[in-house]
Amino acid sequence: MLKTLNNFTSLINRYEMLVVSRFIPYPAMAMYPLIMVRDSRHLSDQVLLNHERIHHRQQVELFILPFYILYGFNYLVNLVRYKNHDQAYRKIIFEQEAYSNEEDRLYLTKRKRWACFLIKS
Ligand SMILES: [Zn+2]
Repeated sequence: MLKTLNNFTSLINRYEMLVVSRFIPYPAMAMYPLIMVRDSRHLSDQVLLNHERIHHRQQVELFILPFYILYGFNYLVNLVRYKNHDQAYRKIIFEQEAYSNEEDRLYLTKRKRWACFLIKS
């Protein structure tokens, strides 16, 4: 099973492309297969890259487009609930998983499928 997960991880990472663009609105963004960073110094930030790779896994698992729909819907529900952008953003299930595990460099090798839906808020 672990071998299958590792193969899945390496398959996803194989198509990853890192792009530096000062025109993106955030320090980094993941839009599979792109990881875009605003500053080339971020390319050596392993925690940030791991965070974005967790989003790649979520995106691939949800066949890309549904990820963005759920992401936006979750944000809007949170915005109504918390009436605060930062809190609404941090409480998005995909962000909760990514922030909770971004410092664990082995996380994607042991992550369970649909793990973003198992996060307790
Ligand atoms: Zn994120």
